[in-house]
Amino acid sequence: MRGRPGLYKSPAQLRLMVAPGLITAASLAAVRAAVRAGVTTLELDAIAEATIRAAGGIPNFMKEPGYSHTLCTSVNDEVVHGVPGGRVLAPGDIVSVDSGAEFEGWNGDAAMTIVVPDPSRVDLVARRRALSDATEHALWAGIAALATARRLNEIGGAIEDAVESRGSYGILEDYVGHGIGRSMHEEPPVFNYRVRGAGPDVKPGLVVAIEPMVTAGSIQTHVRGDGWTVATDDGLDAAHWEHSIAVHADGIWVLTAEDGGAAGLASFGIIPVPVA
Ligand code: MG
Repeated sequence: MRGRPGLYKSPAQLRLMVAPGLITAASLAAVRAAVRAGVTTLELDAIAEATIRAAGGIPNFMKEPGYSHTLCTSVNDEVVHGVPGGRVLAPGDIVSVDSGAEFEGWNGDAAMTIVVPDPSRVDLVARRRALSDATEHALWAGIAALATARRLNEIGGAIEDAVESRGSYGILEDYVGHGIGRSMHEEPPVFNYRVRGAGPDVKPGLVVAIEPMVTAGSIQTHVRGDGWTVATDDGLDAAHWEHSIAVHADGIWVLTAEDGGAAGLASFGIIPVPVA
């Protein structure tokens, strides 16, 4: 896989990935503003779809065979791929929201985790926020590593170390990040943990979705009867954060962050550079 030409986009192709990244970011910002106790996950899905379509995009998760929603919404012990529906978010819930948009044939993919406030359960909320913060921190550590890495699998080591620095958590191994471009899921795999082998070269044209999935306990999961929802076997909480990132001649740019990742990367001493 090292250096295989198909893994690397041209500068013109990278430019085409800016718009779907920003539309994806806008859909998550709209959902973030709407998350509260009492809202259903299907209502959040409608908000994300309206945001993407208003920008001229297409919800790309709908292109997955058999899937008919804009978002995946995964609550509490659900890790990823939760299907929006009538579930009402309750105070204290930890919900991960994954969204993606296609625009003019190119794709964006990103996820965030939110803890619904619950003043009556301060400890629970703090515990869940710590899990989400550890996962988000690990995402940014992985993105920062991409900025300086020579080979892609350096990212997994950075994510693993970042998660471990925050406590006793599990990193899912059944699901990993991926390349992204004309398709939402492309080669190469992007591991969230140390693996044998260095992986492909990190060089201009590489575009990857980095997406650590972190649990409060075991990493064993199962798929629920709906055929989609991935949940922890031990019933403990999970969090998921994701961005799509372009490597180009002058640096990296987080396509699914409005600021290109400037805020998230600042503590790592990395300054993202816009795709030109
Ligand atoms: Mg993804």
